[in-house]
Amino acid sequence: MKLFQCQRCGQPAYFENTSCSNCKTLLGFDPIQLDLLALPEMGKEGEFIDTVGNAYRYCQNQKQEGCNWLISQSDPSRFCRACALNRVIPDLANPAYKRRWQTIEMAKHRLIYALLRWDLPFFPRNETTGSGLGFDFKASQNQENVLTGHASGIITMNIAEADDVERAMAKKEMDEVYRTVLGHFRHEIGHYYWEVLVAGSEGLEEFRSLFGDERVSYANALKIHYQNGAPSNWQQNYISSYASSHPWEDWAETWAHYLHLVDTLETAFSFGLTINPKLENHPAGTSTLISEDPYLCADFSKLLHQWIPLSLALNSLNRSMGLPDSYPFVISPVIAKKMALVHKLIRKGAVSH
Ligand SMILES: [Zn+2]
Ligand SMILES: [Zn+2]
Ligand SMILES: [Zn+2]
Repeated sequence: MKLFQCQRCGQPAYFENTSCSNCKTLLGFDPIQLDLLALPEMGKEGEFIDTVGNAYRYCQNQKQEGCNWLISQSDPSRFCRACALNRVIPDLANPAYKRRWQTIEMAKHRLIYALLRWDLPFFPRNETTGSGLGFDFKASQNQENVLTGHASGIITMNIAEADDVERAMAKKEMDEVYRTVLGHFRHEIGHYYWEVLVAGSEGLEEFRSLFGDERVSYANALKIHYQNGAPSNWQQNYISSYASSHPWEDWAETWAHYLHLVDTLETAFSFGLTINPKLENHPAGTSTLISEDPYLCADFSKLLHQWIPLSLALNSLNRSMGLPDSYPFVISPVIAKKMALVHKLIRKGAVSH
């Protein structure tokens, strides 16, 4: 994600900000220009005017502090492009549910930003045709256990994932090294785009040559994975132990990691980071200049060459703060090849192509 700036006074601002921390001007994110706009003037009927005279309304979810995206005056929608994808949200009258939903929305908006940056196709669920993308955010109630996952275009999230204690317990139980709401979204949208970009496409054979044949029984593969665990040398071929369970899960995990890399590299690019560690003899692959917007970079190997030194720096900074490693994963040559295919198919899948 980029670092934004108040267009009125120049103060740095985060993607999620609704007002400037310095001059207090209202801020909102415009999903068309992909920029945070300052809205210094009131317009008519709940509209606000940006610094060049265009009028916008906030998305309806701004009232619930769940969104800061803008809708242009000429667009009659009540919800922004990210919120229009919601099918089910929890009962916001329950304060604990509302807090969890806000955390979930924050992550979901970051996900949708990435899709917009790549110009990947998505549109809200059409219940008649069963096509499109939809989000269901649900709490487990009574005996019903809500499972986080993807099924034919619907991404379901158990809102307990937005609770730090609940998520930490699940992480321990599943023996995972990384578990975040944003990570879940990146994984599940990977399943969605497998259907859009890989299934029935020319890329399918290449997918099978790298990830394996997805026609093997999914239910059986998962059963075997939970019974026996990952093969002992899984790190050579898979980004996570779970990725070894089935080619679809390998794809979704690899896809999610590609999204982690690109988002983090965009932040580093936005800050003009250069990694130049004070090490004797300058070992290969430890320094980099992050000089290119990763969303526009055509060459995956360039991204990887920036990522390795950056992740070393990130992990070291986290250790200095007494925190666990920010990126506790190793990208082996086999995994890099898989990520390069994700990179290629994302770029091919852009609507504007
Ligand atoms: Zn300002
Ligand atoms: Zn919204
Ligand atoms: Zn999955």
